[in-house]
Amino acid sequence: MSIISEPIPLSVPHLAGNEWKYVKDCLDTGWVSSVGAYVNEFERKTAEWTGAAYAVATVNGTSALHIALRLAGVRAGDYVLLPNLTFVASANSISYTGAEPIFIDADPELWQMDLGLLESFLSEQTLFSDEGIVLRENGRRISAIMPVHVLGNLCDMDRLMSLAQRYGLEVVEDATEALGSWHGSRHAGTFGRMGCFSYNGNKIITTGGGGMIITDDEELARRAKHLTTQAKADSMEYFHDEIGHNYRLVNLLAAVGVAQMELLPEFIERRRRNAALYRQHLSQVEGIDFQQHLDGVRPNEWLFTLLSDRQKALLSGLQQRQIHARPFWVPMNRLPMYAAHRYVQQEDVSGRLYAQGLSLPSSSNLSDELVILVCEQIKSILQHG
Ligand SMILES: *Cc1c(COP(=O)(O)O)cnc(C)c1O
Repeated sequence: MSIISEPIPLSVPHLAGNEWKYVKDCLDTGWVSSVGAYVNEFERKTAEWTGAAYAVATVNGTSALHIALRLAGVRAGDYVLLPNLTFVASANSISYTGAEPIFIDADPELWQMDLGLLESFLSEQTLFSDEGIVLRENGRRISAIMPVHVLGNLCDMDRLMSLAQRYGLEVVEDATEALGSWHGSRHAGTFGRMGCFSYNGNKIITTGGGGMIITDDEELARRAKHLTTQAKADSMEYFHDEIGHNYRLVNLLAAVGVAQMELLPEFIERRRRNAALYRQHLSQVEGIDFQQHLDGVRPNEWLFTLLSDRQKALLSGLQQRQIHARPFWVPMNRLPMYAAHRYVQQEDVSGRLYAQGLSLPSSSNLSDELVILVCEQIKSILQHG
């Protein structure tokens, strides 16, 4: 059964501007690798867009998170708090440092880390020590919180920051899905010590693969550049003063990033329109719920996702109709390598969001007609199976 001539993808790259021109410039001039004007320009544009003082490009979002955690002082044996409902890279970046993630359940409305659970965990299960706070049970240090701005939405970051301050915790924001999301006048990623973005192919802008660390701290920015470029400490000699990483973004890809940044305002507008159309055309449908946003939060609406108690039927029905839809991530506590880790929860909300969550086509090159067609197909599947 095919109603449409071509499949409707979930979220695909939209290369509609100066990408060819800037890549060609790299190829023509030979500036394809580690250094070049496009890396600097991509970093400058990102700092300007977010309002952060500094931006450091990386090879992907996961490496940005890894370096940011390291710079936040997260050490082997520490704990780091993060939401249970996230993409695996958030938890993996913590594991790379030798620290251990502690998973906090999701808020049923916002689908972000549940700050009530976070607060009661901090007040009931931790103690203050000379080193900062430690887990009451075993005396191991808790060093940081990693809020993840799931689907470009934000939790109450003021409350999260004041909890972090009260307990002396560093904040590294996984803002990989939140380029173009704001809370009041502040951009996602600028609340914590550092924030990280991703330019993977399915994100709101893409470089094929890429990432960025933003911060207001000059020394941290300098250290981030140093650690992502093998910690080379001399411009001539191969002298390296610590164990660094080869995590830099190459100029060729940064050229794509500069072109994509020029398109970002348009992309955000289109994604917000997709979401508004989905909400408008599906709000009357029984058994469908939407993600809520706090007052003052303007999400980028990167990937429109709804909840339905008939998620399985919708997934297979849409698949038959060549409309690409996806379930939410399997929550971290259900993955084999994290199943034995601490999971702070009362009602396993992440499990329910996983069972009911359905992401719908959200690319920035969709038309109104296609979004409405997806809505009509959803209604038809729910009515007739
Ligand atoms: C995309 C994403 C990442 C990782 O970014 P990569 O660029 O793919 O390494 C991390 N966390 C979340 C929540 C993501 O969606």
